[in-house]
Amino acid sequence: MLIILSQLLEAIIAQAREDHPIETCGVIAGPEGSDLPLRLIPMRNSANSADFFQLDAEEQFRVWSEMEENGEEPIVIYHSHTGSRAYPSSDDVLFAAEPRTHYVIIGTDPARKLETRSFRIIDGEITEEKLRSVERYAAHCDAHIYSPETGSPACQLS
Ligand SMILES: [Zn+2]
Repeated sequence: MLIILSQLLEAIIAQAREDHPIETCGVIAGPEGSDLPLRLIPMRNSANSADFFQLDAEEQFRVWSEMEENGEEPIVIYHSHTGSRAYPSSDDVLFAAEPRTHYVIIGTDPARKLETRSFRIIDGEITEEKLRSVERYAAHCDAHIYSPETGSPACQLS
């Protein structure tokens, strides 16, 4: 199951709507091993396409290096489907390289209901999981309050 702050969920849906009909994409980083998405990093779809997304190689390198420096990992990798259902395409499966990541797809196809779904993609196998939005990650740590201005505080756990 993916547990995500409702503010973050709303932010990625807003981004997907804004970029429509181009597929949006980005990452939500969090402390390594925490499974807590905290730091929103909207990214550029270098394919600039309505049916495909591709992270810009330079940007991806920069974002991934930054996460490593911060002791973070990509908890969520998200993108939108603007003309098809919110389900991983064969390309999505092909490029899913992070077995611990929640792959979130926001469906903005006007012919369908707006939907946001979360998947695990491991060794080419797609498993849908529950997505639950919460006001805060209080059960884990009070420091985990999302702030778009400052980014997130470091995890205070252990
Ligand atoms: Zn896709």
